Amino acid sequence: MNILVLNCGSSSLKFQIIQTDLEMIEKNADKQLAKGLIERIGSQALVSLQAAGKTAVKHAAPLRDHRAALDHVIKWIISKDAKIPDIQSLADIHAVGHRVVHGAEQFTKSTIITDAVIRGIEDCIDLAPLHNPANLKGIHAARELLGAGIPAVVVFDTSFHSTMPEISFLYAIPYQLYRRHKIRRYGFHGTSHRYVAYRYRQLTGKTREETNVITIHLGNGCSACAIKNGASFDTSMGLSPLEGLVMGTRSGDIDPAVLEFLSHKEGMSMSEIDTLLNKQSGLLGISGLTNDMRDLLEEAKDHQDRRATLAINIFAQRAKKYIGSYLAELNGADALIFTGGIGENAATIRQRICANLEWFGIEIDEQLNNEKVGGKEGEINTHKSRVKVFVIPTNEELLIARDTVRCIVDVPKKS
Ligand code: ADP
Repeated sequence: MNILVLNCGSSSLKFQIIQTDLEMIEKNADKQLAKGLIERIGSQALVSLQAAGKTAVKHAAPLRDHRAALDHVIKWIISKDAKIPDIQSLADIHAVGHRVVHGAEQFTKSTIITDAVIRGIEDCIDLAPLHNPANLKGIHAARELLGAGIPAVVVFDTSFHSTMPEISFLYAIPYQLYRRHKIRRYGFHGTSHRYVAYRYRQLTGKTREETNVITIHLGNGCSACAIKNGASFDTSMGLSPLEGLVMGTRSGDIDPAVLEFLSHKEGMSMSEIDTLLNKQSGLLGISGLTNDMRDLLEEAKDHQDRRATLAINIFAQRAKKYIGSYLAELNGADALIFTGGIGENAATIRQRICANLEWFGIEIDEQLNNEKVGGKEGEINTHKSRVKVFVIPTNEELLIARDTVRCIVDVPKKS
């Protein structure tokens, strides 16, 4: 089956076409046929489209909304120029898999889209006002352009964390607020944490039950997850993706008293504070330069820029703190797994995070660490290290495509 995987952000649309079925999943033989990204939807959008084995085609196009963006993608997919393997017409797209950020307590696993499911995703908008509306735009656009008859599945960022126990997900605020408004920690990046845990099992031959690991997704958004017996036991993001680690532009953990203080001192409204914490904080806020780790590392070379260095150090220290607390929660772990753009590529950040953790049994090998960049997978720990340390490139799209197939053929999920 050829699955169109869609991931719609507020002004972006990412897609992949992945060929997979139950047999290909079993053999790990799924194939990526094409991929692309459209950014700055709403104005002169930047488009990048790439068929497997070909170079990416890049251009600008005036695309006013997600429907126009998807229409642009579909026209390319079926055009003669695209030359996507095994795709001649729209009939060669057999199903669509959508990424949806928030599924709240309602959606604990991936599911086929029905009108009731769409209403359920709309019900979660209160909890994810920045994300779910964009995801819904993608769902509606696909239904309109591909027809409601084509099977479609939603995969939620939150579902992997639905196994968290109350002691992990409840905030220490009056319990009735959880009852009344479902204020609790949900966690995000679930598809990524779940994918790398699945790869870890493949690499080590461990069973799900034997999987006791800490996964650390470091991208623009960052989160850590304590996985106990194969299931999410705790994670660093909370009601929203703002909690936890220091991120590109998000503060992560902060004393809630800062909000009142800021409103008092700076005369800021709650929505201005929300923007400050989500869009102007993190690496960008501390450095005053950029949210991009690659650029920050350049600025911090030989300590030329003090605040760039500070931002990197705070970023690494927060990640270290979470590793420590998850090792305590899990009573030790078998492995630490890095993923995400920074986790997969920035050897120096991994080195800083793992420095001085020998007491915990974590020791990384400098050469192995430096080699694992640019999508390379494998171990980076020394032979003395009690805890294995892995770099595992994430592949959320693959998991979305596989879940789509499994939901359609209605068999229990395996990974
Ligand atoms: P998103 O969360 O948007 O999917 P990514 O997972 O692609 O983001 O991660 C983006 C981050 O990864 C950026 O901060 C970027 O600078 C960083 N990154 C990518 N490549 C490198 C590299 N070679 N060295 C350091 N950081 C990198």
